[in-house]
Amino acid sequence: MKKNIYLLGATGSIGQQTLDIIKKNPNKFNLVAFSGYNNYTRIIEIATQFKPEMVALKDKTDYSNFKQRFPDIKAVYGREGLNKLASYNKEDKSAYLVNALVGMVGLDPTLSAIKIERDILLANKETLVVGGHLINDLKKLYKFNLYPIDSEHNALWQLLDKKDKNTIKRLIITASGGAFRELNRKELETVNIEDALDHPNWSMGKKITIDSATMMNKGFEIIEACYLFDIDIEKVDTVIHKESIVHSMVEFNDGSYLAHLSKPDMHLPISYALFYPERFCTDIKKIEITDLNSLSFSKMDYQRYPCLNYAIEAFKVGGSMRTVLNAANEIAVSLFLNGKIQFLEIEKIIRTALDSHKKIDNPSLEQIYEIDNLVKSNIEKKYNR
Ligand code: NDP
Ligand code: MG
Repeated sequence: MKKNIYLLGATGSIGQQTLDIIKKNPNKFNLVAFSGYNNYTRIIEIATQFKPEMVALKDKTDYSNFKQRFPDIKAVYGREGLNKLASYNKEDKSAYLVNALVGMVGLDPTLSAIKIERDILLANKETLVVGGHLINDLKKLYKFNLYPIDSEHNALWQLLDKKDKNTIKRLIITASGGAFRELNRKELETVNIEDALDHPNWSMGKKITIDSATMMNKGFEIIEACYLFDIDIEKVDTVIHKESIVHSMVEFNDGSYLAHLSKPDMHLPISYALFYPERFCTDIKKIEITDLNSLSFSKMDYQRYPCLNYAIEAFKVGGSMRTVLNAANEIAVSLFLNGKIQFLEIEKIIRTALDSHKKIDNPSLEQIYEIDNLVKSNIEKKYNR
């Protein structure tokens, strides 16, 4: 039976790679619905090519324009539109939601899909950073699977298959070090946007590329691993691995390690999640094992990357502190990308936001939205001049 794909964030980097795989495997997948946001031109192209049943758009203007052009396609828009898309066709038993949105906007539609017991292929790590506790609560009420697309977690999913949790000493997720891995703190004061977007190994959306340069991405991934694999944060470690060939490792109590190796290409983890439980991937470049003579691993320098510490701290404090961490990071990265602040101001903004917040335990979805709005608007007022 074909898998029906409901794709959030089709116009982005993960979204495009997901579409590549769907297009190459028409006998396996069917794109039923997708969302886009600012990139209206691309939305039109995808709708023309894939002829889906439903499209979620940014706002009412785009919705009206789209309806004129495609009267036969159901259209929705805004936050509610994403929820409708995620839970569209409740009775579809072959449905998979691919969440490739960027930012905490991905949380609400994830919860909507869970409430109709739809399986989710998750790239959108911010969902777990801010709402991991809400997803855990729903695990007790609904039956669903959450399959990770993020390469390190996709690797861990493969490595941990059928392993007894009690035998695990620690999970190790690797970090390439991002665009500025060769620079010292002094040199970071003067880096520019183009340099920050020049990731040495991966081609990704802008926000995650900046998150990689600050190492916030690795902090998010540690939190993501704790929620996905229900493991204590003390048992999740990260090391610098410049080649991005080993994506994750598991150390067992008996001293054995298992590692997952592949070329750094997101088509691979996306394919693994889409085809699961089959293992199938078409034209990914393969590793030549005999070329792997110089894989390097070095200790993470936590002083060099304060954002990594902030993420760990926010997770340990818990509750709404994770919302603040994410909101401050989202707005700071966007201010940096718009040329409003320097690179090192990103971490300062996050530190200040964490310090000025009084934690709420177990925030609800609406409290998360309120805090997110408040943190973002306070920072924006101060810096967006
Ligand atoms: P992109 O920025 O390339 O794409 C983001 C997608 O989300 C686009 O479709 C965009 O629409 C849409 N979008 C942005 N803002 C909103 C909003 N407010 N409401 C609704 N839709 C919105 O991101 P990536 O594909 O790089 O990343 C997606 C997620 O996957 C992130 O959480 C990232 O951390 C994670 N990830 C990405 C990897 C990668 O290789 N790219 C690797 C591992 C994880 P539009 O473009 O039309 O505005
Ligand atoms: Mg990753």
